[in-house]
Amino acid sequence: MTGTRDSLRSYLEGRENLGEPEMFLPSGGRRETLEKMQRAGLGAPDTTGLGTDAERLARSGTREEILAIQDMEGLRAVAEACTRCGLHSTRTKVVFSDGAADASVLCVGEAPGANEDRTGLPFVGRAGKLLDRLLLSAGFPRADVFICNVLKCRPPGNRNPLPDEIEACSPFMLRQLELVSPTVIVAFGTFAAQTLLGCRDSLRHLRGRTHLYQGYPLVVTYHPAALLRNPGWTRPTWRDLQLVRRIVDGEQGQPTARMGAVEAAPESGMDDDAGAQDQLILGGRDG
Ligand code: SF4
Repeated sequence: MTGTRDSLRSYLEGRENLGEPEMFLPSGGRRETLEKMQRAGLGAPDTTGLGTDAERLARSGTREEILAIQDMEGLRAVAEACTRCGLHSTRTKVVFSDGAADASVLCVGEAPGANEDRTGLPFVGRAGKLLDRLLLSAGFPRADVFICNVLKCRPPGNRNPLPDEIEACSPFMLRQLELVSPTVIVAFGTFAAQTLLGCRDSLRHLRGRTHLYQGYPLVVTYHPAALLRNPGWTRPTWRDLQLVRRIVDGEQGQPTARMGAVEAAPESGMDDDAGAQDQLILGGRDG
């Protein structure tokens, strides 16, 4: 049996090294095949391009190794098996990402909540539907943006993430950012903004301007869950997303390397439009 396993594994690894794009076995695609192999106790071949298997990286990979993973599928495979911090023991599903891997806009939230933990998708439920409407109001269908969280696993009871959890998980988000290489990042909520910008400033101070993170323009706005509790923040959020729109359209100047004081988002002349947007965005909210 061991000889058969080794032969199969060797064969599949050989296919992978030759750059075969998919279809290792007569039925099913690459992901399905990997899942079948894992269920059968065969382990997984190298999906990372690093000459090592995803399971080893998921267990004990260094920050540098995760940052060197060559493609999004390999990165996802490592994240979905990850035990690099204590949150793996309480999660239901790893919440890796949703949306387009070649997106112009990369949206980052804090961490999965209960719905995300159950479905494996970021920003679902009422807050997720509101996010979809907000993005669409700025001309970004959800399927066209890339959505992820700083943490890929849910902190129990939605408590705040701990520093060691952020440290362990941040290479995944950093590599996602490098692979997507968006035109602009949008940080949703105080925690995501403070974590990415390495500061403790309030959202009120951080909004309405373009920051710089890892060389990418970054715009801060309210988390959709906060908008559900405070509908009055919808209009400022819409303004923030209009700033994102202008950056994508090349109508906004480049930010400087200094975090903070860069460009104020124009506030005048928008309120009438924003009032209509309040109706558009909130009018269809379910629940
Ligand atoms: S939160 Fe991140 S580092 Fe921790 S187990 Fe989940 S994927 Fe791994």
